[in-house]
Amino acid sequence: MVAESTSLVTTPAPTMKSSHHEKLRQLEQTALACRKCPHLVAFRHQVVFGVGNPDAELMFVGEAPGADEDLRGEPFVGRAGELLTRIIQTMGFSRAEVYIANVLKCRPDVPPGKSGNRPPSAEEMATCLPYLREQIALIQPKLMVALGGVAMRGLFGVDQPMKSLRGRWHQFAGIPVMPTFHPSYLLRNQSLTEKRKVWEDMLLVLERLERPITERQRNFFLAKG
Ligand code: URA
Repeated sequence: MVAESTSLVTTPAPTMKSSHHEKLRQLEQTALACRKCPHLVAFRHQVVFGVGNPDAELMFVGEAPGADEDLRGEPFVGRAGELLTRIIQTMGFSRAEVYIANVLKCRPDVPPGKSGNRPPSAEEMATCLPYLREQIALIQPKLMVALGGVAMRGLFGVDQPMKSLRGRWHQFAGIPVMPTFHPSYLLRNQSLTEKRKVWEDMLLVLERLERPITERQRNFFLAKG
């Protein structure tokens, strides 16, 4: 007779991993109910907490959700998001393998009748930053990529042009951060030179993660001479 298998099943003791997954879920619930910025609460459809692998070695940080993200509840799902997804895939990752979040979790409000998005203010980002800090502390990525000058301002309070920030490592809460241009900048400026700059930043990320880099990856967006 076959023994009742259920009697042998024991509940596994909670591991470090499962406890930080649970804490991330709890943090998400807290963020989803956040009402710290009444003007954003009144305007938002959803809080856009973040998506991806809670054990990601690589985390991307943008500025704030736009209209598409506010409707879907997921960061980087509009046109800039499609480009970010292509960058992530060209690096050799899937979107589900990395973690993607913004400094601000709610879409910045725009006046009635106006479309489009506005950048988050310094005050809005400072109010929301504790959520991102906690996300980072729980996920503990090996590296982060800050997408654009506004994200850099939110993380570090620096107000410098991206061209002087990108291409070199910064540190946030002990984690190396590579700033690069925001994907929407690349949508506005489709030149090979600008694409190559972002790609060179991503090559630095891959090198620091000790990921294999193919010849093809090395040469992306190099002008053919
Ligand atoms: N831009 C951002 O910075 N974040 C998003 O989620 C979408 C667009």
